[in-house]
Amino acid sequence: MSPHKILVVEDEEDIGQLLEYNLKREHYQVALAESGRLGLEMARKDPPDLILLDLMLPELNGLEVCRLLKADHETRHIPIIMLTARSEDVDVVSGLELGADDYVSKPFSPRILLARIRAVMRRYEVVSEESSMSSDSIEVGPLLVHPGRHQALLDGVEMKLTHMEYKLLLTLAGRPGWVFTRDQIVKSLRGENYAVTDRAVDVLVVGLRKKMNAHSALVETVRGVGYRFQEM
Ligand code: CA
Repeated sequence: MSPHKILVVEDEEDIGQLLEYNLKREHYQVALAESGRLGLEMARKDPPDLILLDLMLPELNGLEVCRLLKADHETRHIPIIMLTARSEDVDVVSGLELGADDYVSKPFSPRILLARIRAVMRRYEVVSEESSMSSDSIEVGPLLVHPGRHQALLDGVEMKLTHMEYKLLLTLAGRPGWVFTRDQIVKSLRGENYAVTDRAVDVLVVGLRKKMNAHSALVETVRGVGYRFQEM
């Protein structure tokens, strides 16, 4: 496997160099951009596996870069970790809403930053396995699932699902009207560090239905068999 490539968008030279040094030591390939505009250009030209994005940047600030990357079909899949100063809490929230995956406050310990990078990349690897099966959006009635973004919207509002609930929803809604036995569901959820039992499937379904509020009946119980997402 080729090394992961990380694009560092940071205008402060010493921080940029510190990042480059620590990332290279962990065998990442590193590209540095000193302005928002340059970072955006580099990400479009040669999409990296992850972007470390400072917020206070010349030319184009980090939030703007994040917004443009997430609005572009070619770059929206690239995970972004924001590098922020303590005074930028409000911007952190905006950044997360724009689709950034995580943030690390300055001054940060390289060890913590590296752990965050690994965590975010792991999350994306799981998602890309899923989206290789179905990368297109799934739309069933009020439900819209974007597998590439690991996101489910109900009546246009993002659902706050656990990872397992999300996988369950993706499985069921991926084939509306299709009955899944508990056994099939267990198989599709397996591969996690999680012992999935039939009983756990039932508990997950209860949790998922709760989060579907008025639409909970879309997840139907097929007595003696399993579950099915209603066809609409
Ligand atoms: Ca800066």
